[in-house]
Amino acid sequence: MKFSTRLDKLAPYPFVEISRIIAEKRAAGADVVTFGIGDPDIPTPQPIIERLLTASQDPPNHRYPETDGLPELRRAISYWYEKRFDIKLDPDTEVLPLIGAKEGIGHVAFCFLDPGDLALVPDPAYPVYGVGTMFAGAESHIMPLRESNGWLPDLNEIPQDVARSAKVMWVNYPNNPTSAVASVEDLAGITAYCRQNDIALLHDAAYSEVGYHGYKAASSMQIEGSRDVGIEFHSLSKTYNMTGWRIGMAVGNAAMIKALFQIKANLDSGIPQAVQEMAMEALTGPQDCVDDNVKIYQKRRDRVVKALGSMGLTVPTPEASLYIWAPVPDGYTSAGFAAKLLEDIDIVVTPGSSYGKYGEGYIRLSLTTPDEQIEKGCQRLESWQIPSP
Ligand SMILES: *Cc1c(COP(=O)(O)O)cnc(C)c1O
Repeated sequence: MKFSTRLDKLAPYPFVEISRIIAEKRAAGADVVTFGIGDPDIPTPQPIIERLLTASQDPPNHRYPETDGLPELRRAISYWYEKRFDIKLDPDTEVLPLIGAKEGIGHVAFCFLDPGDLALVPDPAYPVYGVGTMFAGAESHIMPLRESNGWLPDLNEIPQDVARSAKVMWVNYPNNPTSAVASVEDLAGITAYCRQNDIALLHDAAYSEVGYHGYKAASSMQIEGSRDVGIEFHSLSKTYNMTGWRIGMAVGNAAMIKALFQIKANLDSGIPQAVQEMAMEALTGPQDCVDDNVKIYQKRRDRVVKALGSMGLTVPTPEASLYIWAPVPDGYTSAGFAAKLLEDIDIVVTPGSSYGKYGEGYIRLSLTTPDEQIEKGCQRLESWQIPSP
């Protein structure tokens, strides 16, 4: 068999490997507590499930959906954006439903990148930006995210010739894995940079609705002129506990949305319509479930920050996202410390290095684990003597 070279370039997707190790440990009888993948443990709200049950009985929903989604869904997305961010989007030209944000993020690379082209990709980051770039045959120019710059890209660091030739820039705030947030001014600076250099701005806002103590993340679409250069990716996954249903959206620049639609129309046949109805229910129904979720995550966040603090690891309390981004003790690598936690106390965390080389020196702990597991995990952390590396 002659496989493609792109397969050789792929590292194993981090969570596939972690899931394998957890399964192995559990099979051997270990009581594993996982702070690994960001996948809400809280069920999808009941009204959204009820809508699925009804929608599943409707025969038109048994047929192929349209790739651009039900018009009612595109209108529901516009409605949500207007209510949440006070911006008006044309549901026919500026909105495109996706089979989860990940699908659109992966495919959008094909809209802009030809072999040999350049993409500006943050590091550490959600792996799909770089992988999509590689699948399109293009190169990533890494934008290091550092604590000293609030985990924002330092645009002054990008060489002039790279800025001139790059075709896209990826950003993601609130950020996975660092849990950093970007202010309106930060997003405005990034937008201005992309306009100046004719770079398509791709903002991933998957965590915009997970903000603590009333923190409300901005949308890149709120920035003046953003629709000249950019689109924003969103997901129902983290906001409404819908990771398993696979639905998200892209919104913004009409030409970019059309390009993504063209790629998708040749690769997929849309989102199951009953799932589209679930999204309509989620986006237009009461939003109390979102606040209820955030309250649960906030308690877990505080518990985990406290446990890490008592281990002597100083971690800032995140304002948003589902993650705690913690430095590893001196002398450890990310992977080494994660392995130690698993070996000694059956605790799973994600090594920062699986998000890129600038993630080295950190681990990520996800808050999407039931309260009693969080408590058990924190107690184990607190009573553990960190061995010398
Ligand atoms: C979870 C996540 C997504 C994927 O969302 P889906 O809609 O479930 O595909 C996208 N971006 C980031 C940064 C994420 O963490």
